Amino acid sequence: MYDLVIEKGKVVTPGGVEKYSIGIKGGSIAALSKTKLQGKRVIDASGKVVMPGAIDPHVHFALPFQGAISADDYYDGSVAGAFGGVTTYIDFAIHARGKDMLKHLKARQKLAAPDSVIDYSFHAGFTEECQKNLNYVKELIDMGIPTFKLLLPYVREGFAVGDGFMFRMLQETKKHGGLLLIHAENADLVMRFMDEENAKGKVSWMQHYDSRPNFVEATSIATSIELAKQAKAPLYVVHLSTAEGLAHMHKAQSEGHPMIVESCPQFLEFTNEKYNEKDGHKYYMTPPFRTKNDNRKLWEGIQNGSVNCMGTDHCPFTMKQKNQGKNLFSKVPNGVMGTEIMLPYMFSEGVNKGRITLNRLAQLTSENTAKIHGLQKKGSLEVGKDADIVIIDPQLKKKITAKNMHSATDYTIYQGRELKGWPIYTISRGEVVVEKGKLKAERGRGKFVERRISKEVLKNPPQGGLA
Ligand SMILES: [Zn+2]
Repeated sequence: MYDLVIEKGKVVTPGGVEKYSIGIKGGSIAALSKTKLQGKRVIDASGKVVMPGAIDPHVHFALPFQGAISADDYYDGSVAGAFGGVTTYIDFAIHARGKDMLKHLKARQKLAAPDSVIDYSFHAGFTEECQKNLNYVKELIDMGIPTFKLLLPYVREGFAVGDGFMFRMLQETKKHGGLLLIHAENADLVMRFMDEENAKGKVSWMQHYDSRPNFVEATSIATSIELAKQAKAPLYVVHLSTAEGLAHMHKAQSEGHPMIVESCPQFLEFTNEKYNEKDGHKYYMTPPFRTKNDNRKLWEGIQNGSVNCMGTDHCPFTMKQKNQGKNLFSKVPNGVMGTEIMLPYMFSEGVNKGRITLNRLAQLTSENTAKIHGLQKKGSLEVGKDADIVIIDPQLKKKITAKNMHSATDYTIYQGRELKGWPIYTISRGEVVVEKGKLKAERGRGKFVERRISKEVLKNPPQGGLA
């Protein structure tokens, strides 16, 4: 007798899509069977798609940034994720200069542990070019935190580090089996262009794009690839947004270098035309939205495997917070919501529009993500893995509104956008956490997950196949 059985659904496994009954015991997947299984509870998934729970490798909950704190704490953010079929997220623990990374991590854990409704981990974000941080690389990997983030453009915010430190970080992560993540934008270009735009005063919301044009990202990616090649290290570019940046990564991947691309749904959906709107600042995130050509090239990357996984950069601010910058574009806190949208968006625009298969969707939102970030018990529906499962109604249509989303922010950039294909059940370690639009999870039930990235993945990161 299983604790929970999910039957009659189309089950997406790494080997293909088949009708299986899934038997869950003690929080793990205990059986995938062609015959009927007995369960204390049985969910009939006829006509539904059963997928591995989504993993969002890029969220910022309760992040102090540009004079504001991002609107979702670990409760709101994790609840929003759960409604969107997310069963694990990785948040960024970015220490303030002069503060100790380990102490900061403990402080973030203290915030997350009592609140998170789904499982979580942290990336270590280094903002200081010190030996102590380099020494922490091995220690953090041993603690189950093998991913490190460097924010290259934010010099004046006190977050940025330079190429020299990045190079040493590439060597250090390579040596100990870690992975370096970078927010790639050329700091000098951004600072100059921002100063020039600021000198004009508030002219238009397009100033955000004008201060960070495509080549700002592409230049930084090109340099970083060269550094990674020299260090013989893998490199992960977060929230990649430009066709040019992707072309650099794709070329390096084709030459056999372990270069990993994360992109986000908002870069597939929006263009910088949004900055011509009256409230264009509500779309401010960094990097900014690009052009139709970039949307198209990113979709191509999703199809051909050069985009390895999806994230969201979920970092919402309220309209009031955004309005901090109503007189000067550079004072608008950068960040938008996204974690609740990632899976339904990719299902609707990817699978339902015939751009990608269900298997490719699973790779982009869970399977590759789990491998790349070292979530060894997660990422696929296989016996022995955590029973992190999402059941999607492929026909369900819903319009996104601020009201029906679960983020604590008061608006959404997707207002009025209809998507087809929404999660109806989210199951975390065998527990139903969201059922038909209702939260079933207890606050704080989510667990910190230790991660370890396999050597093989660091050498040959998963890309496409079955696309
Ligand atoms: Zn981010």
